[in-house]
Amino acid sequence: MGGVPAVSLLRISEIFGPTIQGEGALIGQATVFVRLGGCDYRCSWCDSLHAVESEYRHTWAAMETEAVWERITALSGGRPLTVTISGGNPAIQDCGPLIERGRASGYRFALETQGSVARNWFSRLEPLVLSPKPPSSGETPDWDRFDDCLKAAGEAEAILKIVVFDETDYLWARDVAACYPALPVYLQPGNHTPPPPEAEDAEIDMDGITDRMDWLVSRTLADGWFEARVLPQLHVLIWGNKRGV
Ligand code: SF4
Repeated sequence: MGGVPAVSLLRISEIFGPTIQGEGALIGQATVFVRLGGCDYRCSWCDSLHAVESEYRHTWAAMETEAVWERITALSGGRPLTVTISGGNPAIQDCGPLIERGRASGYRFALETQGSVARNWFSRLEPLVLSPKPPSSGETPDWDRFDDCLKAAGEAEAILKIVVFDETDYLWARDVAACYPALPVYLQPGNHTPPPPEAEDAEIDMDGITDRMDWLVSRTLADGWFEARVLPQLHVLIWGNKRGV
C-alpha cells in the first residue's frame, strides 16, 4: 500500500548570517546560524528565551529541510562554510537530514546542546559542543544522558563549554572537566540578559562582564587549571544583545 512520505519539518526560530561565531572553539569563524525553537530546560539566565518559551512559538516557522537548506545557501552565496545549529535545544528535533544535505555540498555543521538528548547524527558534527548547565542555571544535568550524547558522537570532535557566573559554578566546572579529561574545556563568563522584549535594547552590563572575565581568568590561573580556555562572548562585546548578527 502506497502512502505519502512523511515530511520532516524543523521549528525554526531564526536563520541569519554569515556572521562570526562569537564563542567557544570556533570563535571568530564565519558562520550561518540556524536557531531551532524549543528547549527541555528553563535556565534562570537563558539568553535565548525567544527560542525557548512557548509564548514565542508564533514567531517560529515550520520549515522543511530543503527550505532551510535553500536559506543557508542563499545567505552564504553557495560558498561552503560552517553552519552553527543552536536553540533552544536543537537535539530535540531531527537535524540529521539537514546535516547530510549540507555535508554533501561541502558545508560543515557545529551544534551546541546541553547534553540531555542523544542523537545518532551527533557523529556527523564538527564539533559537537556539549554545554552542561551549572548550578546557577537552576537545572540539574542527567549525566547518564550526557554520556549517551558522547557515545553518539563516537569519533567526532566533542567540546565542553561551561558558562560560569560565580564561585559555585566554577568549582562545579572543575569537577565536570575532571570527569571528562579527554574533552577540551572552554569557560565563558555569564551574561545577565533581561527577558525579551527588553533584551535586545537593554544596555549591556559591560563592567559586569569585564569583571567576571577578569575574575574567571585570575581564578583559573591561580588554580593552575591551565587546560581551560577562558573566552568572553565576542558578539556581546561587539553588538550587545542584538539578535540576528
Ligand atoms: Fe536557554 Fe540553553 Fe538553558 Fe535551553 S539549555 S533554557 S536554550 S540556556
